[in-house]
Amino acid sequence: MGAATLMFNWLRAKLTSEQVMDVGDSSDLTRPNLKQLSESLTLPSPTRKDELWMAAIDDAMRLATYIPNQYVDGVKEAVISSTTTGRGLADLVPYIASIMEITPHNAHLIALDLTRKVFGNSNKQRMEKLGLKKWRWLHTGGGNNPFSEHVAMSGKIYRFDDPPVINSKTGQRGFPSDLLGCKCRMQAVISFDDEDD
Ligand SMILES: [Zn+2]
Repeated sequence: MGAATLMFNWLRAKLTSEQVMDVGDSSDLTRPNLKQLSESLTLPSPTRKDELWMAAIDDAMRLATYIPNQYVDGVKEAVISSTTTGRGLADLVPYIASIMEITPHNAHLIALDLTRKVFGNSNKQRMEKLGLKKWRWLHTGGGNNPFSEHVAMSGKIYRFDDPPVINSKTGQRGFPSDLLGCKCRMQAVISFDDEDD
């Protein structure tokens, strides 16, 4: 068994099922730091001391432009406690409904969107920390009004340092779950053939 095959099998065993990956041509094997890789791929059981998790929450709040400024600090604190105490949406939905004075239904949509953003950002950070350069856009089902751009992007490979346009009307570039209601996901692409670097 060649080094590339061993590496592939090892990575496949380590990556979560969410992150099923694709291995490109292995003509030029670049080996990630295995210890770092192993630590980074432990499933998240975040705490307030987890800097990456806190950064993922900051990113989520930055992207959630639909939350009026005066509620941002309170909602952020609620997201931190809902994702670190394990109570999740049970705490977050009633908090958002009461502070923003919106219906439980709308609060649920917002809480879900924020949670998806946090997990999406966390995944993205972990992939980047591993040294991955590329990822694949995966459109997953997506309700009554999927973003047509995202359907068309599904299966395409992009680079972390050159994200695609996610809203053709505004020209905004970004990643899955950046837009409100986007349920798309990011799939790790392991490429041993970085001829374009
Ligand atoms: Zn989407």
